Amino acid sequence: MRLVQRLRDKGIKNEAVLSAMGETPRHIFLDEALAHRAYEDTALPIGHQQTISQPYIVARMTELVLETSPRRVLELGTGSGYQAAILAQLVDDVYSVERISPLLDRAVVRFRKMGLRNLSARHSDGGMGWPERGPFDVIIVTAAPKELPVELLRQLKEGGRMIAPVGDSSQSLTVVTKHSSGYDEKIIEPVMFVPFLPGTVV
Ligand code: SAH
Repeated sequence: MRLVQRLRDKGIKNEAVLSAMGETPRHIFLDEALAHRAYEDTALPIGHQQTISQPYIVARMTELVLETSPRRVLELGTGSGYQAAILAQLVDDVYSVERISPLLDRAVVRFRKMGLRNLSARHSDGGMGWPERGPFDVIIVTAAPKELPVELLRQLKEGGRMIAPVGDSSQSLTVVTKHSSGYDEKIIEPVMFVPFLPGTVV
């Protein structure tokens, strides 16, 4: 409840997002040793030098995802699975890709525990997207590529959007909209994500 109030104070307005965040137990996405900090509004380590995103950022990005009432959403960077689990409560189908296999395995166990059946996840390099399951209404990237991965726009429907933190030591949360001829970009706010890396780790 306190976390939801905090998200409201920080400007999150979408009631569906606030209610999904209020009903999702974030502690199950963390190791036991850190579970007592699950409802703080901070990013926390999940092993393999990765982090579960800050709740405010998850809420903000989810609000952006929902702006055009999407049905099929692809997430790149499953990590703990928290962002994917929130999305799966708000859209028809969520697909999520993670390059580090032990992280993916743990996330899948959590999805099962929560009974989320509209969520598919696979171990692969998100740089390839998931062409067999596309085209998507939205692609949400939860690690930061240095430059906008424009080749992934091919896996979006026309009018579809990619929401991604872009940059290196300084990053901008960016919304890219695909048009019949090209795309446009809108910068939302500064953010700090772990880097989007190439290849897979077993
Ligand atoms: N959405 C996650 C955030 C995890 S941090 C959550 O809610 O917990 C970012 C994740 O992106 C890490 O797990 C990292 O391994 C993953 N990642 C980085 N580059 C990737 C790539 N090319 N393909 C797939 N996943 C990637």
